[in-house]
Amino acid sequence: MSSFPDFNIDTHWIVSLRGIKNQVDPFRPYAFFVEKEHTSGGYIEEVTTVFLTNRECPFKCLMCDLWKNTTDESVPPGAIPTQIEYALNHLPPARHIKLYNSGSFFDPQAIPPEDYEKIAPLLEPFETVIVESHPTFINHNTLSFSKLIKGDLQVALGLETVHPEVLSRLNKKMTLSDFEQSVNFLSSHGIGARAFILLRPPFMTTEEEGIYWAKKSIDFAFRTGIETCIVIPVRSGNGAMEYLEKQNYCKPPDIQSLEKVLEYGIRLKKGIVLADLWDIDNFSSCEKCLQPRKERLNRMNLLQKVVPPVLCSCPT
Ligand code: SF4
Ligand SMILES: [Zn+2]
Repeated sequence: MSSFPDFNIDTHWIVSLRGIKNQVDPFRPYAFFVEKEHTSGGYIEEVTTVFLTNRECPFKCLMCDLWKNTTDESVPPGAIPTQIEYALNHLPPARHIKLYNSGSFFDPQAIPPEDYEKIAPLLEPFETVIVESHPTFINHNTLSFSKLIKGDLQVALGLETVHPEVLSRLNKKMTLSDFEQSVNFLSSHGIGARAFILLRPPFMTTEEEGIYWAKKSIDFAFRTGIETCIVIPVRSGNGAMEYLEKQNYCKPPDIQSLEKVLEYGIRLKKGIVLADLWDIDNFSSCEKCLQPRKERLNRMNLLQKVVPPVLCSCPT
């Protein structure tokens, strides 16, 4: 059973528990790399990911730590195209690109819309352009950007969880209906959508509850027309999460739970389901099976097939 604190969790409380931000340069992306991913065409292909440096997201979600690599003020016009150019000049070619900006690509305070025309030609080599956005910012700017780029646009939306009470307490200021409307809007304009789903967000007091709601969230996402679900094991590290952990309102999930949710999602065969493996070492306490489990998750991500389980004496 979920359990909730009796104090008010709001933006002020979440921000008050934060540490300091990292030093970032408005003219440099804070990370970039190329990795393999199972893509919509059913192939394993190279995908470029660029983490853009820009102004902090106006939503202050309870579990979010993306603010750490953001600026307080909007970056000047021209900074974002410079960052993309810099990353592309330092990376091998790929067919698809993700431009993740720790917020919403279509937030005009984050990515100036006047930069769209400079960004679009840089994206010409890519068949798919994936950006992220909160449903609030899915609007005419999304359509303008989609028309400017040569490849297909796909927007990643944080569904987080379909647990109604938990979702409302994440300070995300989004309902399931907002999410569904955005997916409908995107698909009615020929734009694809992927969903981020949290495994064991705060207030899910047991591992089983975390698994159950992650599976329900995948079901919901596919029902709305999502093409790809990314399951993210919730980590702490933003201040508020550590506070709630100490009070037993949350606990990071086990790597085994991520395997179970991924197996479930792949078996549905409704679309692509991927496990987020960022910081995955933090979700296991068994040195014996961590590496084989990581490899198993990676193989399942790439093949979109359930592969034989890892056998270990640690509790599952
Ligand atoms: S909307 Fe996304 S980027 Fe913004 S605070 Fe929430 S989780 Fe973080
Ligand atoms: Zn083990």
